[in-house]
Amino acid sequence: MAAIANGRKSKRVGILALQGDFDAHAKAITRAGGTAVEVRTAEGLKSVDGLVIPGGESTTMLKLLNIMNLVEPLAEFARTKPVFGTCAGVILLANKVLSPSQQCFEVLDLTVERNAYGRQIDSRVANISPGPDFQNRAGVGDVEAVFIRAPIIRRVGPGVKVLAEYAGDPVLVEQGMHLAATFHPELTDDTRVHKLFLSKI
Ligand code: GLN
Repeated sequence: MAAIANGRKSKRVGILALQGDFDAHAKAITRAGGTAVEVRTAEGLKSVDGLVIPGGESTTMLKLLNIMNLVEPLAEFARTKPVFGTCAGVILLANKVLSPSQQCFEVLDLTVERNAYGRQIDSRVANISPGPDFQNRAGVGDVEAVFIRAPIIRRVGPGVKVLAEYAGDPVLVEQGMHLAATFHPELTDDTRVHKLFLSKI
């Protein structure tokens, strides 16, 4: 399914819009050349080709996903279509969550520790140097990574490819069609990470 924008096909990317910084992701997807569609229902999920799960508060998002009966539809979606999780989104997609443990979708073979860099005051902006796999596909140069009460990926499974690290920990990873960043690429003007996701749809 694709919308026509400027005479060419543009990919329809759902932005899970229950809580968190979904609006910034919608703008980033638009800047990257996709068509952003806010998704709040199972019906909405059916109309998109990929889905972004934004940063925010994973516990609140979980509650809302349960209230909106979106848990099973989202799990089903991730079986066949690409999902891009950022920060809280990575926590939801992981297969094990620490500190504390909580429900997760087990889409990515990752163990993540919530709020692992410290409290709110410990949020930071860092320059990271993605590896050649990212640079070859998405473009060369460092990426400005904004971390906000970010999780740390403590374990990656054998099927997970690490595209970038910060301070020795993976911060941008992919597993098959899915992508995950513990930082917030939607908060900078650099569209490379969102373009990489679009290329996977
Ligand atoms: N600390 C949040 C959580 O545990 C994630 C923070 C974010 O998404 N910026 O869900």
